[in-house]
Amino acid sequence: MRVLAASPRIDPGMLEPYAIVTARNVIASMWRDNDRRERNQHRVVDLRPPAAPDEELLASEEQSAVEQALARLSRRERETLLAHEVSGQDTRSLASQTGSTAGAVAAQLSRTRARLRVEYLLALEQAEPPSDRCRPVLLALSSGDRRRQREVDAASHVLRCELCARLCQPLMDRGHQRDDEVRVAINCDADIVAARQAARELAARLGFSRTDLTILATAVSEMTRNIVRFAGTGEVVIELIDGPRRGVQVVARDTGPGIPDVDKALTDGYSTYDGLGLGLPGARRLMDEFAVVSEPGRGTTVTMTKWCQEG
Ligand SMILES: [Zn+2]
Repeated sequence: MRVLAASPRIDPGMLEPYAIVTARNVIASMWRDNDRRERNQHRVVDLRPPAAPDEELLASEEQSAVEQALARLSRRERETLLAHEVSGQDTRSLASQTGSTAGAVAAQLSRTRARLRVEYLLALEQAEPPSDRCRPVLLALSSGDRRRQREVDAASHVLRCELCARLCQPLMDRGHQRDDEVRVAINCDADIVAARQAARELAARLGFSRTDLTILATAVSEMTRNIVRFAGTGEVVIELIDGPRRGVQVVARDTGPGIPDVDKALTDGYSTYDGLGLGLPGARRLMDEFAVVSEPGRGTTVTMTKWCQEG
């Protein structure tokens, strides 16, 4: 299951080595757990066990690992990351301060996070990597960049390097916290703005033109507005598609009353709400691919894609 869960983030050639080190790690941690259980068995009778003596130590170790990891970033990386994560400054205003674009700032942030994860784990292990290939390999795994994983031959490295074999697990076990996907729950008008903004920021990373960014944002507002008006609640998932063609896919889902006649709803002139907005046919025209699945009484899912015009 771990291998399956990690597969979208690793190069196909990396699957087998990853499965091998994963199996090794699972067995090692099973023995460690068994051992710990045996040593702690006597505590079962303690109805109120005291706080584990190492708890405070662990917390301070973690804090110092974060400190060390932050110290390894460049000053600019650190300041941007903290402004975004701690002070909540958005990418657009960060971009205007540095004369950059929101997309470039978002991409920079995602690289910084990937580096921070690597440095944090290295600091926790209190280990200097045994070879100068370790950091590039760990970074490629941390960022989920499959092309880079191939370039640095991450697959063969993790089989030979004990440290990287150990660290690749926590780097990949990041649940669904993906850098190339944003989910926005849709309940009210403010969520429409959030979804629009999220789509723009993600797509800007692929180098969409200004016009295309606006077109995409318009289609996203249109679909989310539909959710707010007709279904009440739903969600939008915006995802970058990396290849073979690059683009942005938007899935807008709701559990509302559904559309009785999808074909009719997709016809021009059929307005869903009093002539305001573009409705489904308008959104379909704005996007390159557009599909609607609706079940009356159960809800509607609109899947739409905008490809990036390259070259
Ligand atoms: Zn290594």
